Amino acid sequence: MKEVLRLLGIVRAYQWWMLLAAVLGFAAIGSGIGLLVSAAYILSKAALHPPLFELHLGIVGVRIFGIARGVLRYLERLVSHNTTFRILSRLRIWFYQSIEPLSPARLLQYRSGDLLQRISGDIDSLENLYSRVIAPPLTALLVSALTWVLLGTFSPLFSLLLFVFHAIAAAGLPLLSAYFSRGTAAGIIAIRREIQSMSIDCIQGLSDLTLFGRVKEHTEKLNRLKAEELRLQRKQAIVQRAHEPVAGLLMNGAVIAFILLLAPARGEIEGVFTAVIIIAVIASFEAFLPLPDAVQHIEADAAAGRRLFELVDTPPAVAAPRHPEPFPANRSVSFENVSFTYPDADTPALKGLSLGIKKGEKVAIVGPSGSGKSTVVNLLLRFWPPDSGLITIGGTDIAKFDPEAIRQHIGVVGQRTYLFSETIRDNLLLSRPDADDNELKKALELAGLETFRDKLDRWVGQHGMSLSGGERQRMAIARMLLQNAPIIVLDEATANLDTLTGQQVMRGLVRYCNEKTLLVITHKLREMEQYDRIIVLNKGKIAEEGPHEELLRQKGFYASMWSLQHNDAAAKLLDG
Ligand code: ADP
Ligand code: MG
Repeated sequence: MKEVLRLLGIVRAYQWWMLLAAVLGFAAIGSGIGLLVSAAYILSKAALHPPLFELHLGIVGVRIFGIARGVLRYLERLVSHNTTFRILSRLRIWFYQSIEPLSPARLLQYRSGDLLQRISGDIDSLENLYSRVIAPPLTALLVSALTWVLLGTFSPLFSLLLFVFHAIAAAGLPLLSAYFSRGTAAGIIAIRREIQSMSIDCIQGLSDLTLFGRVKEHTEKLNRLKAEELRLQRKQAIVQRAHEPVAGLLMNGAVIAFILLLAPARGEIEGVFTAVIIIAVIASFEAFLPLPDAVQHIEADAAAGRRLFELVDTPPAVAAPRHPEPFPANRSVSFENVSFTYPDADTPALKGLSLGIKKGEKVAIVGPSGSGKSTVVNLLLRFWPPDSGLITIGGTDIAKFDPEAIRQHIGVVGQRTYLFSETIRDNLLLSRPDADDNELKKALELAGLETFRDKLDRWVGQHGMSLSGGERQRMAIARMLLQNAPIIVLDEATANLDTLTGQQVMRGLVRYCNEKTLLVITHKLREMEQYDRIIVLNKGKIAEEGPHEELLRQKGFYASMWSLQHNDAAAKLLDG
């Protein structure tokens, strides 16, 4: 319940819209009651064969209420849908803005299907928040108040009696419904999330599942989940269908009670009004029909809200400073005694790492896989804060910069490139939305993708699947080039290219970085003399540091990596 209140707080801006819709809904039902009451009046009166003019009031009432009911119902639909969609878009924006700072460190813990379900499913299920949860009780209250007043003009006793029946309907029906359907709405949401996660995994990993012959197993599990969802939906439907008969029973109970009450009082109440009163009692129950539904929706909305808040309330791994410092012109980078352990990891990824890269310097970080190379980049981009130690750019702690500014000024080509299922042009424009086609073509050429020059409108397939691994990587390079950042970080940027192409692209990039600070991360040691300095990482620590020739002369870790990769060792073994 507190989730529902919190959700209401988020959409409070639309309170007047909600109120307007509720009032229109009330007016529509009220006109319905007016229509029935006027009709009952005409019919009863007509039975007494009065002169025509005595029926006039009733006839006018039927006309006015008849037309008003349609018009008001239409307006109510219009306003309540408008309100619903405004609420939905507000919630979407709120949710997106709240989770954006969590990326990527915190969001890594969630499966993409689960996230998708929260963004689309959970928020969509809040579509009912207004129309099914907030509006019905409001309308019911207004409508019953109207009938209490109406009947009160005959006798306060009538008001009291109707109030008792209304109270039973308002409290009893929802309680019964809540009792019989408890857990179903939340259960359906939980199962849908599971189905969504599994479906996405299945589709994305279809080729692997097929390879290992696991498609059937996955399909069966999906079918089981689907069957369970169906079972819960059936239960929900049965409870829902039971509302009308039960409400009908209550309504008829009220009618009988009123007849019993009116019959002895025949002298006091004019016969014509007997029918009017009975009809008003019947009509007043219309407003109570949606109430039990509201209870089920409250449960569903609270569950959806809980799942949204769970994400939204996660503190981001890094917080943007309140008053960020401007990004410095001096783009030297330094790590001082930096240690870092990933959440849930048992060994530190970096252990007291210190390194400095001067402005314009070209430095390579090499080391076996898992030695912490990419972690250096993750920390530099401030995706994670270091556990201890200091990372500075231009001598200022990077915690003092706006994380967005850091990412703008560092051009990165990472190990994994995400291409959107759009055209080549759209994917390139991501890094610089205002680039013109000539700039795009130039970037493609520099990245070694001349062949794409004239295919800017080509669709790259889902996740860029219609491109080869090497092409995807070169797309990432082209994107980085367009960004034109002063600091460039290449993390295994040519790992998916063949040796010759990889070397060509790398040479081009080093030339491009002429004035820029360049940090190259690689485990393949090729043409290492083009870097001013090489930092050798091993198990999160610096093993050696220096220019290529010097490191080779030292005959240490680097030299053995080098000779292993250049088959010297194998050759020597063969010679020996
Ligand atoms: P490299 O890039 O040198 O291959 P990484 O910096 O990616 O190595 O990883 C260093 C260590 O941190 C590895 O042991 C790896 O398993 C671990 N690691 C990397 N990313 C994560 C992560 N997101 N969560 C937990 N552990 C991670
Ligand atoms: Mg790596």
